Amino acid sequence: MTELLFRDDPYLAACEARVLAVRDGAVELDRTIFYPQGGGQPGDTGRIGDWRVVDTRMGDSVLHVLEPGSAPEIGSLVRIEIDWERRQRHMRFHTALHLLCAVVKAPVTGGRMAEDKAHLDFDIEMEKLSKEEIEAGVNALVKAGLEARPRWITDAELDARPDLVKTMSVAPPRGTGRVRLIDIPGVDLQACGGTHVRNTAEIGPIAVARIRSEGKRNKRVTLVLA
Ligand SMILES: [Zn+2]
Repeated sequence: MTELLFRDDPYLAACEARVLAVRDGAVELDRTIFYPQGGGQPGDTGRIGDWRVVDTRMGDSVLHVLEPGSAPEIGSLVRIEIDWERRQRHMRFHTALHLLCAVVKAPVTGGRMAEDKAHLDFDIEMEKLSKEEIEAGVNALVKAGLEARPRWITDAELDARPDLVKTMSVAPPRGTGRVRLIDIPGVDLQACGGTHVRNTAEIGPIAVARIRSEGKRNKRVTLVLA
């Protein structure tokens, strides 16, 4: 099993790791700072030694997908580094989506983030979504400089608290017996395996780029950095 260093320290941008396997152009490591695509958050890009990582996916373990060509030697110790600016944008948008979740009081049906924008889909009537109110609500929480703290509960505790799973289409990662929660005290508490900033102030000012209907139960609110 690969040790997932980003779970406890999402700010770790580089470290050393050992190559455990290379399969179909993807490298497996004993430890990683690369977030594998999941929960609406893209996989990280970066470098493993001299090799370029173009995507990170979750298979049996974390798969660091290399640019086609050569690969590092199995057993070798390599320096690994993520594209930090890209990842930090994912962290800012990811945390902003938690705030959006708290501002719009409706079930979340889906969500996704990229480097330049992020959206959540809500099961709500269009008339109840106001661009101005959402922007003001999210920006107030950004400005408040609130801590976003990870904490862990057991699978059984999560089963007893179904309200902690906010996004119906995205199940939190399970299988290790414990599930990570992200707690923005008094604002939002939910099971989430993604990477987040430590303090909401780091998100910076947010604007609502658009609100659009994507179907009867999906009203999409898209955020950009203002
Ligand atoms: Zn999250």
